Amino acid sequence: MHKFYKSKYIISSGEKIYENSVLVVQDGKVFDIVENNKVPENMEVIDFGNAVITPGFVNLHTHLQYTDLKPLFKPEQIPQNIDFADWIISLMKQYFFWSEAKKIKSFKNGLRETVLSGCTCIIQLSREESFLGILKNLDLKSFVFLETFSNNEENSKKEIEKLQKQIRENTSKNVTIGISPHSIYNVHNTLWEEIAKFSAEENILVHTHLAESQDEINWLNNKPSGIDKIHKLVKWDNMKPYESGMNPVEYLEKLGVLERLKGNLTVAHCIELDEKSLEKLVSYGVGIAHCPRSNMLLHKKTLNFNNLSQNILQNTGLGTDSRFSNYDLSILNEAKYAKDYTGLDFQKLMDMLTINSASILKIDDITGSLEEGKDADFLVFNLNSFVILSKAKDLYQDIFNKEKPDEIYIKGHQIAKSGKFTSEQWKFLNESE
Ligand SMILES: [Zn+2]
Repeated sequence: MHKFYKSKYIISSGEKIYENSVLVVQDGKVFDIVENNKVPENMEVIDFGNAVITPGFVNLHTHLQYTDLKPLFKPEQIPQNIDFADWIISLMKQYFFWSEAKKIKSFKNGLRETVLSGCTCIIQLSREESFLGILKNLDLKSFVFLETFSNNEENSKKEIEKLQKQIRENTSKNVTIGISPHSIYNVHNTLWEEIAKFSAEENILVHTHLAESQDEINWLNNKPSGIDKIHKLVKWDNMKPYESGMNPVEYLEKLGVLERLKGNLTVAHCIELDEKSLEKLVSYGVGIAHCPRSNMLLHKKTLNFNNLSQNILQNTGLGTDSRFSNYDLSILNEAKYAKDYTGLDFQKLMDMLTINSASILKIDDITGSLEEGKDADFLVFNLNSFVILSKAKDLYQDIFNKEKPDEIYIKGHQIAKSGKFTSEQWKFLNESE
């Protein structure tokens, strides 16, 4: 059976906008986009009126379990300098003492916030398996990257075995499980190599934090670094790079990790890389998760797309990171910030929210744009004015000025309306605990 959704505008992808058209959905998938007068008579049409339909968004990097941590700053009084190592240590010291119940509550609070901002796909990084149980029951497209750390060869062998077991035991049709070696400085080279081998054999996606801080660069060069403070806290006194003097990209390249993980690796942040290193990453099929607000809060800098090639831009998606380094978990606010900061054009921004991330995650055949055969994952934004929006720019401007979409659909089913979940499987998230 066909369902018909009429709207003043339909954005099927960054560059394609339809006017006065109808989105035709069949069995949860996009069947077609047709002109108003092509809908057969006597068919029930859901008319959104003066609104725009867009593809669902992707949050390409987040840690929802940290939502309820007590922040180090209030948005209105951001300190001049947050020390990165102190920030990590504060996170560890709080989270370590939380009960399982508190972690789950915090995760749910984050999930509610980011999904209601228009995410129909999320990338969650965590060590615990408990969040998988929640995500397994939802129609959301979710990826859980199991976080891992190690400081020597022995730990590395134990960690890879643990990861292999976790992945074997947790396969699910709704959740894709990947591996997240935390970073270069928190993962021994042996574990990096083991992960690369295993992931290449099993075609598993990998996600890491890369070139996020000056501390990381100093550590790679055997210089005094805030990283030493973190290692000291966990009693990893002799954690050193396997070879010093390389930049983060060279470090992974020399280990053979980039070659082995071709097309399966996503890296978050990258703010300490020059264009040449970013180009190299992209040439290995690496995707970039751009989290501008987190970068600015913690490091006072972020990627500047005015100076970067199209090639890099196309391989970049947007993420909020955790609420512990952000004001909120709204992907729409993240996009708005990126727009204000870099002057990126709206069309490219829409791609970064949708198809770029879908293709980094290798699910661009089922989501990321509203095209025939893909899942009907879409958002509805009521437009503010009745002014005729003849230019795409004005249309986008209106979308990015919103707090959240008015309606969210996944696989053709409405899951939320006016900031509340409407579908049965999601309703448990309406009560904020
Ligand atoms: Zn992160």
